[in-house]
Amino acid sequence: MKSPYEPSNVRSNLLVVQNQLKSACERTKRSATDVTLVAVSKFHDANCVAQALVAGHKVFGENRVQEAQDKWPALKATYSDVTLHLIGPLQTNKVKQAVALFDVIETVDREKLARALAKEFSATGRSLPVYIQVNTGEEAQKAGIFPGQADAFIKLCRDELNLNVQGLMCIPPFDEEPALHFALLSKVANRNGLSALSMGMSGDFETAIELGATSVRVGTAIFGSRP
Ligand SMILES: *Cc1c(COP(=O)(O)O)cnc(C)c1O
Repeated sequence: MKSPYEPSNVRSNLLVVQNQLKSACERTKRSATDVTLVAVSKFHDANCVAQALVAGHKVFGENRVQEAQDKWPALKATYSDVTLHLIGPLQTNKVKQAVALFDVIETVDREKLARALAKEFSATGRSLPVYIQVNTGEEAQKAGIFPGQADAFIKLCRDELNLNVQGLMCIPPFDEEPALHFALLSKVANRNGLSALSMGMSGDFETAIELGATSVRVGTAIFGSRP
């Protein structure tokens, strides 16, 4: 039986995605160095991820703490200068583990988590850059602060908890035009003086770049469909 993904294609897939990223930047007169490609390696095993590392890629995203814990300590020990983003929900009982393993937390989505992170950062002296996840589609089943509450929450995180808030992150509703959500995220970031926008996945990262993404999270287009 054929594997659902072909690890040997990772290097060439990466090149394709990097070129698409560059073209999208050129179309909007942005520099390609302004956009970080976060390679989303969830569900793909260490051998598959290693293909991207061997190809020289350094920035990765995982959505579950436990899976990342199983996979990344060994990879990080072998390949230097890796930056690992947490892009999935974080339970407060996993904060300690997450802060030790990840380099960026993209999914700060509620006060309890923001407070737990602030506490862990000050206890360990390891203070990570964070993004605030905005639920632009106001979907009940999805994590994130609603746009109407975002300004107050950003203020709490920045001013009261002293978190290093780099920017905002969103995952648009599956069945809606993503551009509207990207534009909304950009608007909320602008009015709060935040410059970083994590938005866009395999199907829409070029649109996201055209609307100001500084970071795109691409899984399937690099690693193939998830096993
Ligand atoms: C899985 C995931 C991605 C990558 O999605 P693809 O469509 O495979 O590129 C991006 N962002 C988040 C939050 C994810 O969980």
